[in-house]
Amino acid sequence: MLTEKGWHSVQKTYWHSMSVQECLQKQEVKLSGLTEDDVYARREQYGENRLAEGEQKSLLTLFLDQFRDFMILVLLGATLISGLLEEYTDAITIIAIVIVNGFLGFFQEVRAERSLASLKELSAPTARVIREGKKRVIPAAELVPGDIIELEAGDRVPADLRLIAVHGLETEESALTGESLPVAKLVERINDPEAGLGDRRNMAYMGTMVTRGKGQAVVVATGMQTEMGKIADLIQSAEDAMTPLQMRLEHLGKILVYVALGITAVVVITGILHGQKMYEMFLAGVSLAVAAIPEGLPAIVTIALALGVQRMIKRRAIVRKLPSVETLGCATVICSDKTGTLTQNKMTVQKVWLGGIFYGVTGSGYEPQGEFLLSGRTIDPNRRPDLKRLLQIGVLCNNAELVKVNKGKGEETLWQVNGDPTEGALLVLGGKAGIRTDAIEQVEQRVEEIPFDSVRKMMSVLTRNKEGEMHLLVKGAPDVLLSRCSHMLVEGKVVPLSASLRKSIIQANEEMAREALRVLGFAYRPLYDIKQLKQRDPEQNLVFVGLAGMMDPPREEVFEAIQKCKRAGIKTIMITGDHQATAEAIARQLGILPAKGIVLNGNDLQQMTDQQLIDKVDHTYVFARVSPEHKLRIVKALQARGHVVAMTGDGVNDAPAIKAADIGISMGQSGTDVAKEASALILSDDNFATIVAAIEEGRGIYDNIRKFVRYLLASNVGEIVTMFIAMLMGLPLPLLPIQILWVNLVTDGLPAIALGVDQAEADIMKRPPRNVKESIFARGLGFKILSRGILIGLATLAVFWYGLQTDPSNLEKAQTMAFATLVMAQLIHVFDCRSVEKGIFSRNLFENMWLVASVLSSTLLLLTVMYVTSLQPIFRTVPLGVVDWLLVLVASAIPTFALAARRATRQAKPRLGLSRR
Ligand code: ATP
Repeated sequence: MLTEKGWHSVQKTYWHSMSVQECLQKQEVKLSGLTEDDVYARREQYGENRLAEGEQKSLLTLFLDQFRDFMILVLLGATLISGLLEEYTDAITIIAIVIVNGFLGFFQEVRAERSLASLKELSAPTARVIREGKKRVIPAAELVPGDIIELEAGDRVPADLRLIAVHGLETEESALTGESLPVAKLVERINDPEAGLGDRRNMAYMGTMVTRGKGQAVVVATGMQTEMGKIADLIQSAEDAMTPLQMRLEHLGKILVYVALGITAVVVITGILHGQKMYEMFLAGVSLAVAAIPEGLPAIVTIALALGVQRMIKRRAIVRKLPSVETLGCATVICSDKTGTLTQNKMTVQKVWLGGIFYGVTGSGYEPQGEFLLSGRTIDPNRRPDLKRLLQIGVLCNNAELVKVNKGKGEETLWQVNGDPTEGALLVLGGKAGIRTDAIEQVEQRVEEIPFDSVRKMMSVLTRNKEGEMHLLVKGAPDVLLSRCSHMLVEGKVVPLSASLRKSIIQANEEMAREALRVLGFAYRPLYDIKQLKQRDPEQNLVFVGLAGMMDPPREEVFEAIQKCKRAGIKTIMITGDHQATAEAIARQLGILPAKGIVLNGNDLQQMTDQQLIDKVDHTYVFARVSPEHKLRIVKALQARGHVVAMTGDGVNDAPAIKAADIGISMGQSGTDVAKEASALILSDDNFATIVAAIEEGRGIYDNIRKFVRYLLASNVGEIVTMFIAMLMGLPLPLLPIQILWVNLVTDGLPAIALGVDQAEADIMKRPPRNVKESIFARGLGFKILSRGILIGLATLAVFWYGLQTDPSNLEKAQTMAFATLVMAQLIHVFDCRSVEKGIFSRNLFENMWLVASVLSSTLLLLTVMYVTSLQPIFRTVPLGVVDWLLVLVASAIPTFALAARRATRQAKPRLGLSRR
């Protein structure tokens, strides 16, 4: 337990000037980590490991924000004038409606903010901590001082740490020190207590990132007590969450306000010049302004985005940057990793090659049960020293753990790999020969490690046996390994690696790779002194031992997902660190690589200029044996060809490519913090099919936004047309401001939201991707808004005119009929908006029950203001009879059905033409 001196002692302690032992003592912790009780007590004392967030908007500010909208201010201004003109009922009702609308907007926004905040939690960083002797992964916020944690390349350092073990550990500390070159870390104490942060090389600070190697450390400060916490105010605040579309719509809203004010001015002035009454004209002006402004639009866009993002989470795609929701629908290329994304990442060694002989290995999954076969006959691997050495290297040069887990209460037990599946497969392979980690480490102990990374493509460990002999055991990509070998182990003897032996190794490697096996090579080298390990490049002059080929079956759902992409005009490219032949074989199995598609490898890329790559990239489907830095070149080349690129990655070196891609994607399970932070989208199941699901949702969300933009704007056009033509014809006001406001804010809102959660059309993944630069009104939407709007306006006006003709003394009745026609025409039109291209008959009316319910409730609201006697004087309505209603309904249906009929005849013509031919 920590003493009650509390964090003051933590803050003032010069951890870097203490030895590791002193640090651990001071933190009162052993290498096996804290106990749960310790953790509980320390959490009470220090709180969560979080930086205080910037000021959050209070609920009140959020509510008041609703009224800061320019459009609403115009309305309130008009209301004020009505008030001054002593039209109190109007003024009060308008204010009431504006407040109701404010509440609706407020609740929607709170809900949207909540769901976006929960996204943040989903993508929060984690830490690998050792507590009570067990390793586990916890949210970084749960760390407390004294926790022992492990670090690995790609981690964002989760707290301030004193290092206790390092293996080639380097961190990039520019966030804290401004120094952008990575700093190599050590564990020895630093004598100068006043050393600057950059010189405290035995410490790692929160917010910096691990660029290479591995390490272990003890947490010395968390949350606001870290160095980062001290400068937390300087840290950039959250990114602007507005999407380009939201910004464009906001801009559009402003333009509409000016248009509305312009039209209003024209009408008012014309009216007054014609000798109309000032107040009448003012009323007309306000009505027009109200009609033209789509008040509900911004709020509905936010809610549609937020709900869409929720749907994506259900399909296991977590959106980190809201604008990417829009870009997703524009993706033309997906560049995907192979291992784990296209494949299952469940490796099983099927073949081993040693000195010209292939051995088969039986057994499936991670259960260490199986046999070694030579020409179909079972052999004992322990009797073949070369094979035994290969298996030992596989087990020792390994950081994975093979464990047996009990599945529930039943008998069933399951073998599970913790760590890298490639290494897990080697543990299983060793296990099949009875070679287990714990047993072998009794005779040959691991002393040091040079970790694997995807640039080196190999990993080594230094071991010492009972006799004190030291060996560097190496495993890695065969081609990389071979270039570092000078000898080979053949039947227990070390012989020089002749050209023909080299050739036979390469052939065996190719043969296995063509069978879609992932091949690893194994080698070793005796070392005489640990100092040799510190040499610049100790993995030289190695003795080659053999090869192991492992199967990593493709994910079942991926084949279909790739077909879906093809239909949707999206190309899939495989980018992998694996061997070219392996990559090619799997790409063919998955249908990624067509007959004449090009396969390039890292060497090819190295020799190509950027322009040559740009010229070839459209015909290339597989990039094999690439290093992460190649990914950036590939993204840039694709973008130069005009592609919108989605790119996956998981390692620290993938971050630049993920950032440069139009949609950077990282892996929720195997991804590093750095890759996740760079990405716009996280796949919580690491699965390629999830990218396709996210693209489908992205397209759906955009379609839905277009659907309600169409609905709301067509409604507004209808209102303007009604009012404007009536003015020009010198008719009385067909709709009162209060009625228009009611329609815009109350009866239109619910159906528009329901369109925002509409089901996607069946052909959504059969269309080509949308052009990024396309306007929201593209592909005929602008025409549809105007044509439907004008027809709705004319129908309303016609009904009003008819009402006036039949009963000239009853203006209120004519207005009520116009009001009802407007509302009903819109509520019918809303069903037409569900299909972008095909119109009302292409979709099942009852598929979107939210829409049906919202249309019913909007109709009910209309009936309420018409038939509830106390509301009639406020809305100036009168009850209508059956005949009037018949007229209203027929007129309301005309705009939608007239155009549907026109479309039907237009579509029928070419069909007739075809049959005549
Ligand atoms: P992808 O890029 O599609 O995820 P990958 O997993 O094969 O494919 P890397 O992890 O960069 O890509 O691995 C590159 C190569 O390094 C592999 O083909 C393999 O030969 C070798 N390799 C992979 N994992 C290890 C490891 N743990 N130890 C040693 N070598 C490895």
